[in-house]
Amino acid sequence: MNATPSLLPGHPHIAFQDNDLRVEGARLKDLAQAHGTPLFVYSKASMLDALAAYQRGFAGRKARICYAMKANSSLGVLQVFAQAGCGFDIVSGGELDRVLAAGGDPAKVIFSGVGKTRAEMRQALQAGIGCFNVESEAELEVLNDVALALNQVAPVSLRVNPNVDPKTHPYISTGLKGNKFGIAHERALDTYRRAAGLPGLKVVGIDCHIGSQITEETPYLDAMDRVLDLVEAVEAAGIALRHIDFGGGLGINYNGDQPPAADALWGRLFAKLDARGFGDREFMIEPGRSLVGNAGVCVTEVLYLKPGEQKNFCIIDAAMNDLPRPAMYQAFHAIVPVSRRDSGAGTSTYDVVGPVCESGDWIGRDRTLSVQPGDLLAVLSAGAYCMSMASNYNTRGRAAEVLVDGPHSHLIRERENAADQMRAERLVR
Ligand SMILES: *Cc1c(COP(=O)(O)O)cnc(C)c1O
Repeated sequence: MNATPSLLPGHPHIAFQDNDLRVEGARLKDLAQAHGTPLFVYSKASMLDALAAYQRGFAGRKARICYAMKANSSLGVLQVFAQAGCGFDIVSGGELDRVLAAGGDPAKVIFSGVGKTRAEMRQALQAGIGCFNVESEAELEVLNDVALALNQVAPVSLRVNPNVDPKTHPYISTGLKGNKFGIAHERALDTYRRAAGLPGLKVVGIDCHIGSQITEETPYLDAMDRVLDLVEAVEAAGIALRHIDFGGGLGINYNGDQPPAADALWGRLFAKLDARGFGDREFMIEPGRSLVGNAGVCVTEVLYLKPGEQKNFCIIDAAMNDLPRPAMYQAFHAIVPVSRRDSGAGTSTYDVVGPVCESGDWIGRDRTLSVQPGDLLAVLSAGAYCMSMASNYNTRGRAAEVLVDGPHSHLIRERENAADQMRAERLVR
């Protein structure tokens, strides 16, 4: 018996106690028994701890933390951040509907994304959102038209592309030239002049977002210098910028990664801001992954073991439709047993795969596990970009979700059934 909780590095509030993995006060095997698998389980304390690290970094400053909700847009998760006073960074009209349904304040919403439709712009203006992060000159003109037609003035910030390399996976790097995001550094001043001259727009800020799963400080410091250079140039041209928004992108520990802590990183960033005379500005940030990624696990059952000549397969009931990151980005998720046993199954090396009919449907490669069919496994770091990217491929219902808050567990999403999936479809008659 092991009475001392053993902490998994980088996963606060997720620990083994008496050989059973718990999220806060809840035993995962009990939750799996009650709700079935695959099952996402989130720790509220872990989300609030991650938020507190940013809040410490911003203490004494004028700052707003806008949770980038595409990382995990489940209502029960949004509610946690809304109640903690956060704003939200959205990328669609559907996300705005979710913010409102979860009790979020539209005035604290910023709307990012390269392809906002007129309908989405109207919806956001009518809801009274805080700011549009505009990503192109063409979008400025359309937003101006939409605002004028509604007799409104749209608050805008321009997303500039600082052209720094965040040294992350190419699919999640967004601040380099040749990337679809943002306005090129060289075009930024002219675009600000254009925006300032449009009667349906009010320039309120500047923003950038250079990528995701960033584990080094230097790209942030470099991007900040590039953005501050622009702030100086834009303000010298007589256009005041009320806020500066540095986006999101801070990484988490998936596989021994060591990203800077949010408070330490912001200590360094504020040293630069103070040195350049910008320390008392209004700041915004848009963290996603770093607020929720390591707050969640996915509990899955081992269905079959399939020994092979070249590889052994461990077939689980979670798949690429639940956990798309390995198939999309060759991403790594740690996989641990939900109950540690002293004896029993022998140890082997497995590729852990799902039931979906695709060779890309793998969750972990070459993992050393001691398992037998019927055992439960926990896929770690599953709080971000898993459920929000989940699909119904193979007509698999999306998993259920539980939010654990100390001793209490709340089902925040029921398992989706086939009728749910077919509801909007029609036979031809
Ligand atoms: C995705 C995104 C974020 C959040 O990125 P994380 O890596 O999850 O922190 C923030 N801002 C914008 C504009 C984004 O597209």
